[in-house]
Amino acid sequence: MTHPRYPHLLEPITLGSGPDALTLRNRVVMGSMHTGLEDHPWDIDKLAAFFEERARGGVGLIITGGYAPTKRGWLKPFASEMTNRLHAKRHERVTGAVHDAGGAIALQVLHAGRYGYHPLSQSASDKKSPITPFKPSAMSTKDVDHTATAFAKSVALARKAGYDAVEIMGSEGYLINQFLAARTNDRDDQWGGSAARRMHFPVEVVRRSRELVGDDFPIVYRISLLDLVEGGQTWEETAELALHLQAAGVTVFNTGIGWHEARVPTIITQVPRGAWRSYTARLKQVVDVPVCASNRINTPELAEEILAAGEADLVSMARPLLADAAFVAKAMDERADEINTCIACNQACLDHVFSNERASCLVNPRACHETELVLMPTLRKQTVAVVGAGPAGLAAAVSAAERGFAVTLFEKSPELGGQFRLAMAVPGKEDFADTLRYFTRRLEVLDVDVRRSTEATADDLAGFDQVIVSTGVEPRMPAIPGIDHPSVASYADVLSGAVVPGKRVAVIGAGGIGVDVSVFLTHEEEDLDDWMAHWGVGDPALTAGGLTEAKPRTPAREVTLVQRKTTPIGIGLGKTSGWAHRAVLKQSRVTQVSGATYDRIDDEGLHVTVDGERRVIEVDTVVVCAGQESVRGLYDGLDRDAHLIGGADVAAELDAKRAIKQGTEVVAAL
Ligand code: NAP
Ligand code: SF4
Repeated sequence: MTHPRYPHLLEPITLGSGPDALTLRNRVVMGSMHTGLEDHPWDIDKLAAFFEERARGGVGLIITGGYAPTKRGWLKPFASEMTNRLHAKRHERVTGAVHDAGGAIALQVLHAGRYGYHPLSQSASDKKSPITPFKPSAMSTKDVDHTATAFAKSVALARKAGYDAVEIMGSEGYLINQFLAARTNDRDDQWGGSAARRMHFPVEVVRRSRELVGDDFPIVYRISLLDLVEGGQTWEETAELALHLQAAGVTVFNTGIGWHEARVPTIITQVPRGAWRSYTARLKQVVDVPVCASNRINTPELAEEILAAGEADLVSMARPLLADAAFVAKAMDERADEINTCIACNQACLDHVFSNERASCLVNPRACHETELVLMPTLRKQTVAVVGAGPAGLAAAVSAAERGFAVTLFEKSPELGGQFRLAMAVPGKEDFADTLRYFTRRLEVLDVDVRRSTEATADDLAGFDQVIVSTGVEPRMPAIPGIDHPSVASYADVLSGAVVPGKRVAVIGAGGIGVDVSVFLTHEEEDLDDWMAHWGVGDPALTAGGLTEAKPRTPAREVTLVQRKTTPIGIGLGKTSGWAHRAVLKQSRVTQVSGATYDRIDDEGLHVTVDGERRVIEVDTVVVCAGQESVRGLYDGLDRDAHLIGGADVAAELDAKRAIKQGTEVVAAL
């Protein structure tokens, strides 16, 4: 039956034909995402549980993280590989769990090439990548031939392991891209030398895979639609490649945007939702097989819109399925307002993986910890009071209600969200509002007694069995002479709109919030075309890789960002997103001052000493972003047991990831 709300998204689709044809129950693909669980055989049960929960949540097709076809193709030393029967046997645990839960799963085969973080890495040439310390060795002609066959053997092993399909990773700048682009392939044998010969490697990979697995087994190929690096492919080459691959046996094209070394953000929160959909639509005009859209699609509404417009046949969402395993089931039940939406922060997923930690999710700390962080239904019908509705308190209240406790949530302000509410005012962080929508809706559905505009007292808490205090933080106002000057405002005043700064602003403190506030102050309105222009994204039909000269920004204010440290500003920001925030500061001509001592603030502006020299930064407004202090008055005055969580517990390095995790964990242990 056609779904009334998402008729295209929830419509089944059959991939391939014959006995191995795969019918998916809907068009939602959980895109490949390396979690770190792939790399250790002893984590196979955790990996199975992670996928099983998503299969139970209704997703059409799951694609695993990348498995190397050879050791030299590893992402890092001893990383995941699919190279022998023992590996295939072990994976039966994963495929069995997904099938038992009614789902379908594909294994991704990925050769890291020069992105391999180890000394054995190999590539089309010996050119080092700008994002890894290891120089690869250039493959011999025989090595290339062997590697193409190794890909095919991995594909065959995946089929043996019970996978319903495979995905060959041909995007994001990994080995296959390194063969395709003149940037990285300067060979003069049959695997390079001209655009046509550079395509030979991926086409052979697909041809040999098809030969080993027969006509019907679905082969997904993830094609790079836009390399976003100099010396990348042109659109003409991409289209020609797609046709060759289709002829060699590709069943479905998944799509990728940008090599990992590209200096254009492609998936983080500041990238407009659905930014890349038109490129998938362009590929769809070229090929006859189904195509799958990807990148910055995080709601069922947007996914439906893309399919309804005929721009794609399937939609891939990786991080959104980390954030909410039941994404599809909720859409199906018309409970999309209960979806825990991925806010594209990368903080607990990609930042973890690139730091060699297991992935999880900022808004869903159970992701990849399904067997460890379990919210069991409670057998004791206790009452729980949660004081403070920032991220920690919201997570605690919702988790406690999910376990079956009777929960009362006290919040002294009329709005829920605490510091998180401020964050969503930052340009490019609008998605953060969805986290508050999610929590607010879950509180309603779970019938939590929410008391807004209510400052809880010790007396109010007396009758509760359990008390959780998450009273949060307040901005720190450092003891600088003149801190009471009328030109001084806290970041909270500025982001909430209570204070509108003048045209020239000094920002004190260059942590995450100082950077965010500088972006907020300099930001000009931009639509998708402006965004593309500011990042220098052009038409790959006109320039190889799709890069063009960036259009300068016109900052709304003149901002000077100041810190006491002498390290580069923004160095402590997220591993996979910090570079983009630093780039925006530069584009917005924010003046950066490090190693400053604050002397005073007066009518002239902010007086500082830098390198022993006194100077005045002449400004209309000084915005203080000097961290926070815990608000703990209530907790300190309680004469009963209580759990202290979030910023009220530790203000230093306060962040929503730790707050939500702590709020969930404290409740799991009640
Ligand atoms: P923060 O990262 O701790 O930065 C506050 C800065 O204020 C410090 O780096 C410090 O720099 C300065 N400072 C501290 N005490 C001071 C004093 N007494 N006088 C003058 N300056 C002082 O805190 P935040 O910026 O408020 O951010 C809070 C948390 O939110 C972060 O830990 C982060 O996890 C999260 N967050 C992250 C992002 C992001 O990644 N994009 C964005 C927003 C928030 P100096 O000592 O060098 O002056
Ligand atoms: Fe999305 Fe952030 Fe969770 Fe990653 S950590 S899945 S980006 S919400």
